[in-house]
Amino acid sequence: MSDDRAVNVTVLEKSTITPTLFRFKTSRPDGFRFQAGQFVRLGIDDSHQSGERIFRAYSVVSSPYDEFLEFFSVVVPDGAFTSQLQHLAVGDTLYLNPESFGFLTLARYQEPTPQDLWLLATGTGLAPFLSILQELTAWENYSHIILAYSVRTHAELAYLDKIAHLSDKFGSLVESPARLSFIPIVTRETADGCLSERLPTLITSGKLEKQAGCSLNPNSSHVMLCGNPQMVDDTKEALKAQGLTMNRRGVGNIAVENYW
Ligand code: NAP
Repeated sequence: MSDDRAVNVTVLEKSTITPTLFRFKTSRPDGFRFQAGQFVRLGIDDSHQSGERIFRAYSVVSSPYDEFLEFFSVVVPDGAFTSQLQHLAVGDTLYLNPESFGFLTLARYQEPTPQDLWLLATGTGLAPFLSILQELTAWENYSHIILAYSVRTHAELAYLDKIAHLSDKFGSLVESPARLSFIPIVTRETADGCLSERLPTLITSGKLEKQAGCSLNPNSSHVMLCGNPQMVDDTKEALKAQGLTMNRRGVGNIAVENYW
């Protein structure tokens, strides 16, 4: 994972979602390739430790077909990287390691495609799923896609507009597209139209399946998890208790990416 060959990218847009969440777009270097669901390594010059360039992993929000790259970030308290990154402005330069990383991609599933794709995220772990949901194969290969997205407060539910338009935009490009069920979850306040318990609890109680109108089934479900590492662990256990298995060498239901 050497970052020695990093290239410059320019910040094209930036918007603040809450005081600790923001999204930004950068230029995309010619020839830079990635698969939906993968992450890259972004770098900045650390102004506090002169001369040192620091890098962090970021999942790409945008689609492999976009001309720009988009990212979604939390401000980590006292974090050397994001405490600077949050002050990014349009026109600033970042560094991009020209490799892409990670296996949270639809291509990792080698077996014949089951029926339903469950994308379960907390916080900024939503990012790779937004990229995957802009892949035509997701809409083509599954009959039902369930996106469940858990945050602490309603204000932290990001990209709602984009999610609302995904079915129209990408579903219309294929014959018999998947149905998308979006399940927002807000855990630390009451929010209309949102579930309120953590993902493992919702799985164990059957409430997530009820809300989705679909069963988690070892023979028909692919499940991807991304976000808080403890959520990933706890949710894996809840899914295994229902008979689902980790995806290894292309076979099995569950694929995961820890986020920090
Ligand atoms: P978070 O604590 O991850 O909470 C987001 C959602 O995940 C909430 O709905 C939360 O529910 C739920 N959750 C937490 N633990 C869970 C578990 N074990 N099982 C199921 N659901 C769980 O909040 P965040 O704002 O995304 O991140 C919190 C802090 O993590 C940030 O302030 C930052 O310091 C750090 N972080 C670091 C990085 C990094 O790259 N270094 C990236 C993201 C976040 P509850 O409300 O019930 O807890």
